[in-house]
Amino acid sequence: MNDILINKTIISFQENFNSKPEKIVLSPGRINIIGEHIDYNDGYVLPAAIDKIICFAFNKNNSNTSRIIALDLDDEFEIDLTAEVQHDEKVWTNYIRGVIQQLKSSGFQFEGVNCVFSSNIPIGSGLSSSAALECGFLFGINELFSLNIKPIDIALLGQKAEHWVGIHCGIMDQFSSVMGKKNQVVKIDCRTLEYTYHEANFSDYSLILFDSNVKHSLMTSAYNERREQCEEGIAIVQGNFPEIKSFRECTEQIIIDLKDKMSHNVYRRSLFVVREINRVIQACEALDNGNIELLGELMFATHEGLSKNYEVSCDELDILVDLAKKEESVIGSRLMGGGFGGCTINLVKKGYEEEVKNKFAKLYFEAVGIELKIYDVKIGNGTSLYTK
Ligand code: ADP
Ligand code: MG
Repeated sequence: MNDILINKTIISFQENFNSKPEKIVLSPGRINIIGEHIDYNDGYVLPAAIDKIICFAFNKNNSNTSRIIALDLDDEFEIDLTAEVQHDEKVWTNYIRGVIQQLKSSGFQFEGVNCVFSSNIPIGSGLSSSAALECGFLFGINELFSLNIKPIDIALLGQKAEHWVGIHCGIMDQFSSVMGKKNQVVKIDCRTLEYTYHEANFSDYSLILFDSNVKHSLMTSAYNERREQCEEGIAIVQGNFPEIKSFRECTEQIIIDLKDKMSHNVYRRSLFVVREINRVIQACEALDNGNIELLGELMFATHEGLSKNYEVSCDELDILVDLAKKEESVIGSRLMGGGFGGCTINLVKKGYEEEVKNKFAKLYFEAVGIELKIYDVKIGNGTSLYTK
């Protein structure tokens, strides 16, 4: 599947720039087993890179202007590297502009590139095409100009680029895209950036993504608002318990005891975060112990929290998780990513995958009149150079 994408990207590069690319970079999307909206709350998350990628073809063009072609959008732009980087109304270009802005403001020296990129990561489905875009482009510039930026710093710069675009995301997406490893999930401590790899062995179950095929426009504003509400929540906790640095040191009881000091929303957001951090710890142990049934229960509980307390679900995602609850061969399901659309991640009993896919597609269409998209998940490597 990726070979076709890689060939297509190389051919387009040659057609547009009359030369062979010097570097080919493959940058993956990611899934997250559990730990949603937790990275920016200094908790733990359990993501993995996947085999869906953005492929970039690059060379240096010995000028101070970069020319970048987005093959999937049949669009391109040029950027003068000597001028101050500005936002543009073409949103996709801002992810690249953000990377260039971050590299420049961090003092890295680099010159113009020609670049073509193309992707098979569904856009806006919660598989983090945006992190793949930032980190893949960064990786390429790092390679071409020997900037010696370490992988973790590529992730951190990618995150800052996304902040520059306007989404105050945590570190999970960029970290998993860069640091992912084949057949491993990575547990990240989002406060210290310590991480451990864990075998992605789901025993008798397969991971399947059901893409609701909707994206409600609330996403960016709600994301930034949740982040602010959590900051308010932890500030109230610290006002009463100065020794507590973040939600991971909080018990559920502490939040309950402080209920009267918080607004209703801040209380519910805080409660979700404390519970979700505990679920990630339990889920990682369950995975290590092969207790996939427990992992599934925790995923259902996460969805309940995201829907009721964190309020980042939507009817379409709730319908998909309700279908999963009723289906005996699906033992866990939850919305994945920021919410308000995109995918659910599901644990489906091996041997029942096709039956479940067909049933869900039919029932989802009957319920909402929208085609369900379905992706099988394979866990792949993080951002890397492609060598034939
Ligand atoms: P997600 O990261 O979950 O896929 P986001 O809304 O965070 O969704 O990021 C999607 C944005 O990233 C797109 O709107 C577009 O601007 C940019 N993007 C992602 N993939 C591509 C692509 N293949 N070509 C051009 N832009 C892309
Ligand atoms: Mg994104």
